Amino acid sequence: MSTLIPVTDVTPDLIARMPKVELHLHLEGSIDPATVLELARRNTIDLGVRTAQETEALYAYRDFPHFIDTFVRICECLRRPEDFTLVVERLGARLAAQNVRYAEVHFNPEPHLRKRGIAFGPLLDAMNVGRRVVRARHGVKLRWIADGIRDADSGPVSVTRTVDWMIESGHQRGVVALGLGGLEEGYPAARFADDFARARAAGFHVTVHAGEITGPEAIRETVKAIEPDRIGHGIAAVHDPALMSDLARRRIPLEVCPVSNLRTGAVARLEDLRLRELDEAGVILTLNTDDPPMFHTSMTNEFAVAADVFGFTLDDLHRFTLNAAHAAFLPPNERETLVARIDADYSAMLKTAT
Ligand SMILES: [Zn+2]
Repeated sequence: MSTLIPVTDVTPDLIARMPKVELHLHLEGSIDPATVLELARRNTIDLGVRTAQETEALYAYRDFPHFIDTFVRICECLRRPEDFTLVVERLGARLAAQNVRYAEVHFNPEPHLRKRGIAFGPLLDAMNVGRRVVRARHGVKLRWIADGIRDADSGPVSVTRTVDWMIESGHQRGVVALGLGGLEEGYPAARFADDFARARAAGFHVTVHAGEITGPEAIRETVKAIEPDRIGHGIAAVHDPALMSDLARRRIPLEVCPVSNLRTGAVARLEDLRLRELDEAGVILTLNTDDPPMFHTSMTNEFAVAADVFGFTLDDLHRFTLNAAHAAFLPPNERETLVARIDADYSAMLKTAT
């Protein structure tokens, strides 16, 4: 599709109004400071803060381990299944406000059971109460990605258990894929190859965080051992032209989260992501937020960054959204419906903009 709007007309208003799809977003990292405070109060947890402003101050990190520490503290506030319903409803409202039509939301089921006694079934049932509200109230469609954690306190069994639960009841509860997060260094994806093979055999899709704070070899190893449908981040690929060609040839999309990479220190400057080189090498890019309030970002902000820092046009941004819609873990007919809706909404938006 050719745009009716010149590059210079990529305005914040248009970016906000564009239809969007998000594929890489963590439920536990999506909780805004006011909701964290509300949850802490209702579950009588002392976070050492009393106001939303003070809670906001928790969302400033010295480094990556400090960010993980904050993430774990926030998870401590999620004590009852109903807490997850609230968190999903709040997330859905924020996605709708940015014109996100579809999102795949990661969550970490194993620690919620091990640390706080919330089992996979009740957890997902509560999340699905929120999911139905979000669909009815805002028209936003959500699906779940159950993440295993590489460096879980309980060891690699954390991932194995996650797959067991998915096989038992994941399909009927809106889970579409197995993901893998946590510390990359020292925990290669190959270690979990059997778990991923089991998930895939049971009909689930597969996405793996790789090459976020590690080098291109971690992506190579992941592609070889797991053959994922998508890669979370994968930004290190830009340092390896042969790998970029390989990702392009295999059509493995990257779930890129620029502001997250800046906030965690994965890159010193946004420019270092060199998204234009990845795009020009034919790598399929999608734009995402990772943990939006924790990184002070949003889908709208990520789009603005892509335009401002890398000079992507409105059509480029729309192309990334279509990439995401095509890479969605939905049945083919639902995927086609999503692609058609995104295209129609974008065309309608362009008409009202001229
Ligand atoms: Zn992530």
